[in-house]
Amino acid sequence: MTLRARLVAANWKMNGSRVDNARWLEAFRAQPAACEAVVCPPYVYVEQVVSGLAGTGAFVGAQDLCDRAAGAWTGEVAGEMLRDAGVQWVIVGHSERRAAFGETDEIVAAKAERALDAGLRPIVCVGETLEQRSAGRTASVIAAQLDAVLQRCTPARLAAGALAYEPVWAIGTGHSATPQQAQDVHAAIRAQLARHDPAAAGAMRLLYGGSVKPGNAAELFAQPDIDGGLIGGASLVAAEFLAICAARAHG
Ligand code: PEP
Repeated sequence: MTLRARLVAANWKMNGSRVDNARWLEAFRAQPAACEAVVCPPYVYVEQVVSGLAGTGAFVGAQDLCDRAAGAWTGEVAGEMLRDAGVQWVIVGHSERRAAFGETDEIVAAKAERALDAGLRPIVCVGETLEQRSAGRTASVIAAQLDAVLQRCTPARLAAGALAYEPVWAIGTGHSATPQQAQDVHAAIRAQLARHDPAAAGAMRLLYGGSVKPGNAAELFAQPDIDGGLIGGASLVAAEFLAICAARAHG
């Protein structure tokens, strides 16, 4: 039996406006999430979401942070600034940042460490491309991505946050991994963590991300090593995000 509480995070990506966000927050406040929830808006809307979620029990996350200490880094945001603005969580190493903004495994690891040093709870993302999966390299790619993070952060530290398995081919495509495909990778991630620290591996929340919707969330979350989700497209509609938070297996 798992004692890990379900965690569901909304990644709004580069979407939203003050008016749309206000509507989303109003809907969320009317029906607070049925599990631990994190909402990750673009930086400029963090303060709006911090005040909009006050009293709901939900947390605010950022979508990224700088891998360096505060100083002369134009356009960047330090983890300490996010904490100062009321943020508790931060997504690190999303595949869009890896692919479109050149984030290497080493940069992702440095960001995870910075987040922890700043008192933030990182959601560290790993995932393979379709080409890598087709070549039978899923396990080795995920292991290498995770290993880079483990070079800098112990599993016990990382367990303050979460890891997200997000197959790149499933993100935004409408084609989720099957529950068994996701479970297989989650089990491998937990086994890799357990080789370092069995207790931390047992405590770590492993989220699945990639085309999670209200209609497929329950069967994904029913897998023994899937402890929740990182939700992109479906999180833009409050009712869909709330339905995913509340997803229950039948029978
Ligand atoms: C994501 O980008 O983290 C994600 C899971 O997106 P989507 O739910 O839209 O596939």
